[in-house]
Amino acid sequence: MTEPMVATFDLVKSFAVRRGFFAQRKSRLVAVDRVTLTINVGETLGLVGESGCGKSTLGLTLMQLYEPTSGQVRFDGKDLVGMPPAQLNKVRRKMQMIYQDPYASLDPRMNVEEILTEPLVIHEVGSRQDRLAEAQRLLDVVGLPGDALGRFPSEFSGGQQQRIGIARALMLQPKMLICDEPVSSLDVSVQAQILNLLRDLQAEFGLTYLFISHNIAVTRFISRRIGVMYLGRLVEIGPSAAIVDNPLHPYTQALIAAVPDPHPSDIHRQRKLSGDVPSPIDRPTGCAFHPRCRFAASFDEERCSRVEPQLRALRPDHAVACHFAERITAQSAPATHNPTPKVA
Ligand code: SF4
Repeated sequence: MTEPMVATFDLVKSFAVRRGFFAQRKSRLVAVDRVTLTINVGETLGLVGESGCGKSTLGLTLMQLYEPTSGQVRFDGKDLVGMPPAQLNKVRRKMQMIYQDPYASLDPRMNVEEILTEPLVIHEVGSRQDRLAEAQRLLDVVGLPGDALGRFPSEFSGGQQQRIGIARALMLQPKMLICDEPVSSLDVSVQAQILNLLRDLQAEFGLTYLFISHNIAVTRFISRRIGVMYLGRLVEIGPSAAIVDNPLHPYTQALIAAVPDPHPSDIHRQRKLSGDVPSPIDRPTGCAFHPRCRFAASFDEERCSRVEPQLRALRPDHAVACHFAERITAQSAPATHNPTPKVA
């Protein structure tokens, strides 16, 4: 069996924070909490959740841009945690990132040629001619004209800037792209173009994607599997169609209910989330979702508030962290028709 492109085991990333009026109290903010997952070669794994759920921190920790607090990260057959910096630098060339705000991610003082060739200069790859030829080739691949090389980021639209960001990510011929909200800042009409471009590039270059987004509709469009994060933990993971059409976790149900629907059903309204995300510094005990869960009171509130549910497989390739997922699924059976989110 082929080894996955990425495998994490019990990955934790926490940060020391100071609290109180005079910042006298020390606490730990656990942004990524014991996450175990795999991403297969050539696959797109979508990662969804509200802002602050830890999905971007997970992406940065995978790349070792944040040093993991504990746990393991395997990428392309190699253990990254504790790897010597020089070796890590070489491995990291094969894992690149696409950012949410394309303009902020491009240096406004550099022209497109300088932006695209910079990674090759840093890693001392090829001659100047080779770098230029590669930049021209990739501009064509992402659908920009060759004369873009001499222009500056501010001369392009948001969608074109994101194409430049994608071309730059491809310059070192990566095996994997971590796409962190790559279309969230773009007009709806441009989002589909960028998503289609990412799909075409994956087919052409055999790329593996981690696609991070707060938008489950967009994530379903591009992902084969989806993982759902809440307060740093993975609470559900499975095939995209199963996650969206028949979610097992009340939080996933609520995320799907949050997709705008011009004719919301009663079930759709019931599933909507109430309350704010608790602070990751003061994590609720037991199931972290219990203060917002519409089932906690009717099932066994004490168990929900005291015992932390573990991720367990309920169906082949579909796991959920909820004590009562079977009962919730049975209750939800007549209402499994969720509005299918569409990418405009
Ligand atoms: Fe809700 Fe309890 Fe399941 Fe948590 S374990 S999602 S609180 S029913």
